Parts: sequence; structure tokens; C-alpha cells
Amino acid sequence: MTTECPFEPNVLDAVTNDAWTESLRAHVASCDDCAAAAEVGSWMTRFSGLDEREHILPDPAVLWLKARLLQSKAVVERASLPITRLQIAAYLIIAACWAALLTWKSSALQLWINHFSPGHMVLGATGAEATRSLSLGVLFAIVILASATVGVAMHTILAEE
Ligand SMILES: [Zn+2]
Repeated sequence: MTTECPFEPNVLDAVTNDAWTESLRAHVASCDDCAAAAEVGSWMTRFSGLDEREHILPDPAVLWLKARLLQSKAVVERASLPITRLQIAAYLIIAACWAALLTWKSSALQLWINHFSPGHMVLGATGAEATRSLSLGVLFAIVILASATVGVAMHTILAEE
């Protein structure tokens, strides 16, 4: 096998960067090794240039914008994660409280709701009974739960904006 000419890297560098010197040109003319390297090198340069043109890269501005959007989206997601978890917990607690309250005072609430229905308004007899069965504590619990529900819902709406 032929030993590699010490000028070969210089020749390849000259081909890729198109930085030929007079002495290098003269050497390539007299050295088969470097002549072959120059030939292959020029073909390689053309090949890589072709490859570059075939893979049309997106506009750097588009890439930058995309990166920024992804970044801000990640930041928002990271920031909203504890809030979302807290909101889910709040919703679950409120739902459980509503379920407990409705189960506990279902008959009393039914009576109280019926009190406002037209049928009972006409009869008007069970009004006092319904109010008595529905204690002030239960009414207070309903008011607290209702405001908590509205509060969490408002917090969710505001957090989404
Ligand atoms: Zn050479």
C-alpha cells in the first residue's frame, strides 16, 4: 500500500474551504496520492452541498419562535401544576361534603325544597315543619359549601386566563 502523503490533509482542507495555495497546486500535480485526494474531496464537497440543499431547513426565526413557545408552555405547565392538583383536591373535598350533607339531611332537604314548590305553597301547612327540620347548622353548611364551590370554580376560571 502507498504511504499517506503528509500534504493530504492540507489538500482536503484546500478542497473543502476552496483555499488553494500555489505550492499545494504544484504538489497535487506531482503527487498521485494528493491528486486522488483532491478528486475525492471535491466530489465529497459537491455531495455534502447537494445534501444540504435537499434538506431545506426551516427559517431560523420560525425555529426560534417555536422554541420560545415550547419553553413558555413548559413554564406555564410547571407553574400551574400545583394549582391544578390543589384545585382537584378542593373539588373532591367539596363534592364529598355535598354528598355527605345531602345523604345526611336528604329527607329534611327534600321537605325544605318541597316547601317552595307550588303545591305546598298552596297548602302552606308544612312550612313551619320543614324549617324546623332543617336546622340553622345545616343551612349554614349549605351556604359555606355553596360559596366554597363558587370560590373554587372562580379560581379555576381565573387561573385559566
Ligand atoms: Zn501529496
